Amino acid sequence: MLQKHANLMTDSQPILSLKSVRKMFGPHAAVDTINIDITEGEFFTIVGPSGSGKTTLIRMLAGMDQPTSGDILLRGTRINDLPANKRPTCMVFQSLALFPHRTVGQNIEFPLKIRGEDPAKRKVRALQLMTLLRLPESYYGKNVMKCSGGERQRVALARALAYDPQILFFDEPLSAIDYKLRKTLEKELKDIHRETNKTFIYITHSLEEAMVMSDRIGVMRDGKLVQVGTPHEIYTAPRSRFVSEFVGDVNVIPVTRAGNGRLRMNDSGRELVPPGKAPEFASGHLVVRPEYLRFLKQTSDADNALEGRLYNEYALGSRIQYQVRVGENVFVVEKLRQQPFSGKLDDKVIIGWDANDGILVSE
Ligand code: ATP
Repeated sequence: MLQKHANLMTDSQPILSLKSVRKMFGPHAAVDTINIDITEGEFFTIVGPSGSGKTTLIRMLAGMDQPTSGDILLRGTRINDLPANKRPTCMVFQSLALFPHRTVGQNIEFPLKIRGEDPAKRKVRALQLMTLLRLPESYYGKNVMKCSGGERQRVALARALAYDPQILFFDEPLSAIDYKLRKTLEKELKDIHRETNKTFIYITHSLEEAMVMSDRIGVMRDGKLVQVGTPHEIYTAPRSRFVSEFVGDVNVIPVTRAGNGRLRMNDSGRELVPPGKAPEFASGHLVVRPEYLRFLKQTSDADNALEGRLYNEYALGSRIQYQVRVGENVFVVEKLRQQPFSGKLDDKVIIGWDANDGILVSE
């Protein structure tokens, strides 16, 4: 799968291209000059906080709205003015928009019925899609409102697939679902993507959700795509403090470049060793993820070390997170439960990290 995706990324024409796409609401640019190519078969997720322009963007991609300027190309053909029902795409909404008084089978067969397919063929296809979506065959005649939230989610996806679209859009379909089921459905959706080979374009405000499922993620802020990359790139090489803070807890240290090639912490004046691949800048932030911070026996055990006091500890299942107070600042350190550590609350501790485990960002 990964190899196939890598080939797609280099060989094929994009299924969807956005060229300087903008959407103005009065003087406000809800989507501001977006350029991106989506590769056929890709699972591309647009992630961003509330109001960043995700819905506006996906509505334009799906043909429910038109850009104020710029072009949307489907396999090289401009489709700005093509209405939603003429596009080879389908949207799965958070509300699911199922027909409440109909059966699972009737809901899934709806697209086939409006296309005029005969009932026997419709049923065969509906049952195939139910197998793909792990819905028991016995559900075919079940009223859709008697299904659980997760099952309804699968029915909505089966119905979307029955349209046989080239691109499926997902507008926060899992946001109303409880945590445990959401985690299961995220993985299922990724499996279904793999099995169908369709292009999935998904929006969510949760970078954690995006990380689990996506081939690539585009992070939006104030109408702009501020970074596009694989989940690994977004996690390990965020280009800004904004992107770095979007997933999990991070330690963000305001720093200034000292004349001797080192960094100086803005609050304490303490010098730190920068990562090898550090961008040129006068001042910015050093980001260190909690799992790269560790407790040290002595300050010489890591490139960078800070002395502090153990303030609190939080059990996170397989990991334990610690808060360490260093002067006025709180640092978050995370370690696996099985790693030995005997520190107690209020103990003096030394925490540290290797220079190349830090990420330097200029904003
Ligand atoms: P959320 O996660 O809350 O759904 P979003 O990232 O999807 O947010 P949008 O709904 O696309 O963000 O909104 C982007 C900006 O455009 C916001 O400032 C919003 O107020 C504005 N906006 C969206 N639709 C309209 C509209 N029809 N008229 C005027 N302004 C709008």
